[in-house]
Amino acid sequence: MTTTAQLPKAFLEKMQRLLGPEAEAWFASYDAPRAIGLRANPLKLDASALARKLPFGVAPVPWCETGFAVVDEPGASAPGKHPYHAAGLYYMQEPSAMYPAAQLGVQPGERVLDLCAAPGGKTTHIGGALAGRGLLIANEYEAKRAKALSENVERLGLANCLVLNETPERLAARFPGYFDRILVDAPCSGEGMFRKDPEAAAYWSESHVEACARLQTELLDAAVAMLRGGGTLVYSTCTFSPEENERAIEALLARHPALELEPLPLVGGVSPGVPAWTAGGNERLAGAARLWPHRVRGEGHFAAKLRKADGGNAPVDAAGGDGAAAPAGKRRPSGGSPAPTRQQLALYRAFEAETIVGQVDGTFAAYGPQLYRLPEDCPDLTGLRAVRPGLHLGELKKDRFEPNHALALALPADRFRHKYELLDGGERAADAYFRGETLASGEDRGWLVVTYDGFPVGWGKESKGTLKNFYPKGLRRMGV
Ligand code: SAM
Repeated sequence: MTTTAQLPKAFLEKMQRLLGPEAEAWFASYDAPRAIGLRANPLKLDASALARKLPFGVAPVPWCETGFAVVDEPGASAPGKHPYHAAGLYYMQEPSAMYPAAQLGVQPGERVLDLCAAPGGKTTHIGGALAGRGLLIANEYEAKRAKALSENVERLGLANCLVLNETPERLAARFPGYFDRILVDAPCSGEGMFRKDPEAAAYWSESHVEACARLQTELLDAAVAMLRGGGTLVYSTCTFSPEENERAIEALLARHPALELEPLPLVGGVSPGVPAWTAGGNERLAGAARLWPHRVRGEGHFAAKLRKADGGNAPVDAAGGDGAAAPAGKRRPSGGSPAPTRQQLALYRAFEAETIVGQVDGTFAAYGPQLYRLPEDCPDLTGLRAVRPGLHLGELKKDRFEPNHALALALPADRFRHKYELLDGGERAADAYFRGETLASGEDRGWLVVTYDGFPVGWGKESKGTLKNFYPKGLRRMGV
């Protein structure tokens, strides 16, 4: 936990100036424990059913129907180590970070872009709202962070999600006017993270705030270029500085007359944006939202929601890019993705017939030996850095098919012919499985899904009474 004594003096003085008499309450929030929360994954079970199952106390989050604050402090990391977490039943997310994606208004079947997506808190929120239909592109600029994003997409079972590792400029060149909804959860000076992470505070300076504001301008222009007429854009940050919040939106509205600010709901202690903090006293900014750590249970967030006028698709300068490919929206769906050979498909279907109830349908693509099922309405990915081009079904070996972890996590337990329930072997069986150990099973059923309390957590392969462990090596943990 950070104390105010660890925060840069200039930052504290700026907050004092901005907040006036209210600054005392804001300073005092640094003495309170940080807010911990989790969001139920509706692709696996509904929020009330999850709340009944959890072995620790939770309280609802007023602005997110699937969100909970963790209230009885079970040791801060316990919810992140529970087998329900490994099963993708929830995502750990502090409550104020649940606000922006909840305001995006995503409907099943839409095309949605999460432009700055890692590690995936808001991507997994959007994925739940899409209910497995439509297309979600989760993009992350930093390659390492894109990997963490991809793992979270896998764990939560998002089968209609493409994970990309691209620059916003290249995306804007490929996807003009393409998306129904876009979230820009921008890289920022992160002042709302200081309570949790004193090291983040060490980076703070006015010039860093200004550099963040310049980057946010570029990201927002790229996002506007990718939004269809009538589409919705939500911008959010986890910082308090007006330059990155009210002023960023004020300038955006001035650059793009086709955008209109839609007022956000001020539920459960959420505060309005502050027009007095804009350069021109723009009253419309009261329609933005601020989640202050001294007013709500949360670390702090800003959000603004914008609608692009119908037909407001005029290209903006930011959509430069390499110009190499035709706009994705004009291509045949999935055009350009490498189709599997008949033999590859036959190997997969043979595995499927033995292991899965029913078929996984849709368009398949083989990237080398890796077999994927593309999302419906999948654009051409040629030339884009795709970290996860859809649902990873598995790997085609010489004369057999080996399933990927993502397939186990994307289907409900009743889609698997054979199951191994860890609770039947006691809590020790779960610990052993997550450590990667072989388990005794007494049967010989081949590939099966391993479940915890009826929820798939990974693959196992039974042979001569033992269960070989296919829980991914990178996810295994020691000493649980
Ligand atoms: N939306 C994420 C979530 O809810 O888990 C958090 C996103 S974080 C606030 C901002 C992300 O933007 C970081 O992952 C960062 O790596 C990424 N980023 C950094 N520089 C960027 C750039 N130039 N363009 C786009 N994204 C960038």
